[in-house]
Amino acid sequence: MSTNPADLNRVASRAAPVRSSGLLSLPHIVVVGGGAGGLELVTRLGDTIGRRQQAQITLVEKSRTHLWKPLLHAVAAGSLNPGEHEFDYLAQAHWHHFRYRFGEMVGLNRDRREVYLAPAYDDEGRQITPAQMLPYDILVIAIGSVTNDFGTPGVFEHSVPLETPEQAARFNRRVVNACIRANTQDGPVRPGQLHVAIVGAGATGTELAAELHQTVREVVAFGLDRVDPDKDIRIILIEAADRILPALPARICDATLTLLKQLGVEVRTGAMVREVTADGVSLANGEFVPSELVVWAAGVQAPAVLRDIGGLETNRINQLVVTPTLQTTRDPNIFAMGDCAECPRPGYQTAVPPRAQAAHQQSSHLIRQLRRHLDHKPLEPFVYHDFGSLVSLGRYSTVGSLMGFLVGKGLFIEGYIARVMYRSLYLMHEVALQGVWRTSIDWVGRGLSRRAAPEVKLH
Ligand SMILES: Cc1cc2nc3c(=O)[nH]c(=O)nc-3n(C[C@H](O)[C@H](O)[C@H](O)COP(=O)(O)OP(=O)(O)OC[C@H]3O[C@@H](n4cnc5c(N)ncnc54)[C@H](O)[C@@H]3O)c2cc1C
Repeated sequence: MSTNPADLNRVASRAAPVRSSGLLSLPHIVVVGGGAGGLELVTRLGDTIGRRQQAQITLVEKSRTHLWKPLLHAVAAGSLNPGEHEFDYLAQAHWHHFRYRFGEMVGLNRDRREVYLAPAYDDEGRQITPAQMLPYDILVIAIGSVTNDFGTPGVFEHSVPLETPEQAARFNRRVVNACIRANTQDGPVRPGQLHVAIVGAGATGTELAAELHQTVREVVAFGLDRVDPDKDIRIILIEAADRILPALPARICDATLTLLKQLGVEVRTGAMVREVTADGVSLANGEFVPSELVVWAAGVQAPAVLRDIGGLETNRINQLVVTPTLQTTRDPNIFAMGDCAECPRPGYQTAVPPRAQAAHQQSSHLIRQLRRHLDHKPLEPFVYHDFGSLVSLGRYSTVGSLMGFLVGKGLFIEGYIARVMYRSLYLMHEVALQGVWRTSIDWVGRGLSRRAAPEVKLH
């Protein structure tokens, strides 16, 4: 849906006001986006001021279930069943004293303090929810990021991004289908037919390369004996910068590169992609990399809806510019957090990075600050603590560095300790959403079910 003012006025005039819960005299905090940061925020606000009826909390979210985004590469590789890790927004809202509005934010009127949601339709085209208007007293925008194709032709048509569980699952189906097709076709496997080009060697692309190397072999081992993994399957990691993991310390890059080379993953650095086609990837130097399966993991930007939304200040990748208190620069009642916010980092030249640990820390910070804001107390600035970076290389290894106050300076770690640290970030997210007991039961349950099923998704 368009976000131009005329269209938004039309949405506003047709929008049904959200039904009153009888609590509308309370201050209304609306959080848009229930991802790594937003869902933790509404859950903990609901458990505190929502339960005590000090404020009404509403989450606006365009999806029905939540899956923590850093798990998407494992869904794409087929090593993780999303159903075992998803949170149902309706149930989460019911248990944690907030309200869930299914819908996509398409506009905002700051003078009237209203958010506008587009109508939603099911797969048969029947309307589920009409256009809606939601009044707010405090608004938090936490709608994350989307893939940045940098205007490269063919990316949208011929590659799969990893933004949503549906896209990750779609890519996994393509891989499994390609293996089954190759196993049953009359002729030999064509060049490029079982090649996977992953564009972007940041953490997402690199983790996917290692995980996929392992899972594709497991799929083939389930009886696809006409496919020879060492000969037919190739994974090519393509990166425009002069090394993989350009945002991470060189030591992590070196350890990861050594392992990828041992696995036979082909790494192309300093390689700019000019175009993606149905058969592969054209590079700026004129070379063509044959590959019928392409994943685009080359960069992120905030969703286009934020461009010019309500006259708020945005940067060149659509992020809302916020002050150190996470308030947008032009409206103190509108906060932004996570990937969709450009948050300054005093003493550093770059802003807070778009990472799950930043979204987690910002949500913890806002829980306290929103209560202060309701009480008209001055707000404290957000300070980002970088605890380090970890890269999971499937079952082969995990490498990374621990940073910050824990050890004073970067400490390189790998293997078991790194794996435990890597999992602890997800553990913190689950604990924030459902507490220690339910999280422990879930981990035991998942551990048991893994022993009784193939370790890789076969359909
Ligand atoms: C494959 C992959 C691997 C990653 N691995 C790591 C990692 O190992 N470590 C790490 O620190 N970070 C990692 N990240 C980055 C991390 O996932 C993000 O930084 C984090 O999820 C940002 O949290 P967020 O709350 O800002 O947004 P998100 O978690 O993206 O949530 C945004 C939510 O907003 C909803 N939404 C979007 N638009 C609208 C709208 N208009 N109206 C209503 N709802 C809307 C979306 O449906 C979504 O639920 C990874 C990312 C990916 C894609």
